[in-house]
Amino acid sequence: MFREDTIAKFRTIQTPFYYYDMELLRKTLSTCAGVAGRFGYKLHYALKANSNPEVLSVISGAGYGADCVSGNEIRAAVENGFNPKQIMFSGVGKSDAEIRLALQLGIQSLNVESRQEMEIIDELAGAIGLKAGISLRIIPNVDARTHRYITTGLEENKFGILPWEFDRVLETLKQLGNLRLKGLHFHIGSQITDLGVFKSLCHRINDINEWFISNQVRAEIINVGGGLGIDYQDPDRNPVPDFGEYFRVFKDFIRLQPDQELHFEPGRALVGQCGSLITKVLFVKKGVNTRFAIVDAGMNDLIRPALYQSYHRMENLTSVDPPEKYDVVGPICESSDCFGKAVSLPKTRRNDLLAIRSAGAYGQTMSSRYNLRDLAAAFYSDRGIAFRNIIRDI
Ligand SMILES: *Cc1c(COP(=O)(O)O)cnc(C)c1O
Repeated sequence: MFREDTIAKFRTIQTPFYYYDMELLRKTLSTCAGVAGRFGYKLHYALKANSNPEVLSVISGAGYGADCVSGNEIRAAVENGFNPKQIMFSGVGKSDAEIRLALQLGIQSLNVESRQEMEIIDELAGAIGLKAGISLRIIPNVDARTHRYITTGLEENKFGILPWEFDRVLETLKQLGNLRLKGLHFHIGSQITDLGVFKSLCHRINDINEWFISNQVRAEIINVGGGLGIDYQDPDRNPVPDFGEYFRVFKDFIRLQPDQELHFEPGRALVGQCGSLITKVLFVKKGVNTRFAIVDAGMNDLIRPALYQSYHRMENLTSVDPPEKYDVVGPICESSDCFGKAVSLPKTRRNDLLAIRSAGAYGQTMSSRYNLRDLAAAFYSDRGIAFRNIIRDI
């Protein structure tokens, strides 16, 4: 993936930094949209995976709608070319100001997660004389079989409305004159690699959709959320997820009314593989049973390994020596600041450059200034590799 000339340029800039392969992003977007288009499915990109303006404008330019989880994400979506009529707003805790912003912009749907939220949206919409398009976020009780921190579709999770509340939700809906029900919304978790999970989701959605129809409520939108996983083990073998296989599950198992649209909200699957975190080795230190490669990126730059024990493939870009094993750790004062244990890398020395792969999703968007560290810069490969910030030679 990284050519010699690219590596030579990497050497001249301040590390750590995010490096985005925009060609791969475009290819992923067109593959996904191509298959979805064939089935007539609508796509909304989940901004929280990566909300860099450069990334957003490419995705909006490819014709995607947006799924936002905060008022600022809605603003970023609009500023970077998304049509408000194709923006969904999800989240268990929307503030009054965020709800008002969504109403004033006339977004497609606020995805509500409780009856109290329905009442508040109705009240705020009434106060500004608008009708609010809403979808009901429903807990389908399907186990995503992924890390428990990224499972959202189970009864014990904080998200959504439970089936035993449906009767009362419909009563509430009848009483609230400023709400228009547009859709039923589901999102069961993230990094789902077992497609059988989506098949179970389809069966649950069929039952729930039929229950609503038998109660004279026909949602025009069935939104199945995101969650499709990527290949963290071997990003070069599978740079683009198998969208054909994914959409095929829904084609085969979901039963819709002729006037119902199927919507998807992929995040990770679109942007995960196009980003890498490039970091420099500061020191190599011998431990009791291990060797540490201490790098200049930390959990503040990429928190996924510390937060979810997630795996990222690592490559030494500047050594081709026989491999040895290293614990690759960052400089932050936390023992969880570790990108991988016993990682096999070509013999690694001070000043080598490592690429931490598949970092395009939930990388930069989750970064922080913990330890008062600087935020990592981002570079985008098809702008002629815009390497500004030439600070020093290594
Ligand atoms: C996070 C999120 C998504 C995207 O999930 P991915 O696993 O990144 O595809 C989609 N919909 C909602 C409501 C979300 O919160």
